[in-house]
Amino acid sequence: SLSEKLQNVFKNLRGKGRLSEADVATALKEVKMALLEADVNFKVVKNFIKTVQERAVGQDVMSSLTPGQMVIKIVNEEMVNLMGSETTEISFKPGNEITVIMMCGLQGAGKTTTTAKLAGKFKAKGKRPLLAACDIYRPAAIEQLRINGDKQGVPVFSMGDKHKPVNIAKAALEHARSNNMNVVILDTAGRLHIDEDMMNELIEIKENIQVHQTILVVDSMTGQDAVNVAEHFQNKIGIDGVILTKLDGDTRGGAALSIRAVTGRPILYAGMGEKLSDLEQFYPDRMASRILGMGDILTLIDKAQADFDEEKAKQLEKKLKKAEFDFNDYLDQLQQIKKMGGINDILKMMPGMGSQLKDVEVDDDAFGGVEAIIYSMTKAERANPDILNPSRKKRIALGAGVDISEVNKVVKQFDQMKKMMKQMSGMMGSKGMKKGKF
Ligand code: GDP
Ligand code: MG
Repeated sequence: SLSEKLQNVFKNLRGKGRLSEADVATALKEVKMALLEADVNFKVVKNFIKTVQERAVGQDVMSSLTPGQMVIKIVNEEMVNLMGSETTEISFKPGNEITVIMMCGLQGAGKTTTTAKLAGKFKAKGKRPLLAACDIYRPAAIEQLRINGDKQGVPVFSMGDKHKPVNIAKAALEHARSNNMNVVILDTAGRLHIDEDMMNELIEIKENIQVHQTILVVDSMTGQDAVNVAEHFQNKIGIDGVILTKLDGDTRGGAALSIRAVTGRPILYAGMGEKLSDLEQFYPDRMASRILGMGDILTLIDKAQADFDEEKAKQLEKKLKKAEFDFNDYLDQLQQIKKMGGINDILKMMPGMGSQLKDVEVDDDAFGGVEAIIYSMTKAERANPDILNPSRKKRIALGAGVDISEVNKVVKQFDQMKKMMKQMSGMMGSKGMKKGKF
């Protein structure tokens, strides 16, 4: 499986410190192979590898992790990003307004089963769903929907197989209106392959009634085909989301990883079995863990991150209490701020600061100059700012290629920051510090 292969790849990364270009390149070559074998779309793989490469090279390895684990951490995060990072919910019209959902997909993908599964979920949310049997081609299809609807305690609307699907859909909507239902799910017909008739039938429905959500159902076990189908449906009729079925039998994860990148549409739910309760909300982070198959390592990484942040916060707090805050800490803080998206964004988020700073634009580039000056200080100077006399300042200015007045400015800023942080640490206690906001 993909996870086993990846585990082997990362075993070979040894040593500590920064991830070297060579280390990362070797590991990622293997990751690339593993992803392609897992049936991930070629273009998706190419972009993915590039992104991970850019992030990983030169990255510091956290002290409690091995380089292999550090690369896994990045691969994992980028997999989550690829799948959309957050869970997407199906949106409904408010109150008694009717939400029309059209299910579409190839024959056997799982539309009818998933229609009934969704109905159960919606019912549990307090919705009043109606299922409409719009598959008139397979004799057993109507009966199948009825049986599943009964199991869920959800009404099924059908008109036999002598009417056009668009007319069945219209009549179902009328029926829902007069019976005070607020969700209509259309179970449409699929074909074995993409086919014009099927597409036209779906387009005709969309042209004649207002469909709020077009949901594509694809079989994850078909791998790249599932992705091609999704791309085709997106281009031809437009979809709002995807439900990936039979994930219980899919060991590769290729479709899950590729669909969002290829169609731009999120995966909403995952089918995890034949039973009507086997439908799960799709969580990109859980899916990534599953594909990587490294639950233990990922937990370890999470913990390492938390320990790392907490350790830093604790150290800083201690220093502030003892008024030991020095230029090394200042540098750390500047880097933290950069990581969080720049000083302007942070100031805007701070309560009460927004209005006061309305017209002030703090220059993020100025940080670069500050960093250069701190880098020109010796270890002793950074750890003990009190020893900064005029001759030292002159040497630092020369080293950083700036005027001595710039150095004085930075030292002054530093003193103010130190004072401010001391006040803040008194105000917030350790809780505020742990959140990493200064
Ligand atoms: P349709 O032709 O798209 O309507 O597909 P069906 O709903 O009739 O499903 C086709 C087959 O796939 C049926 O045997 C279902 O029980 C099965 N199926 C659907 N979803 C899942 C799933 O998530 N996991 C598994 N294992 N089987 C599923
Ligand atoms: Mg069906």
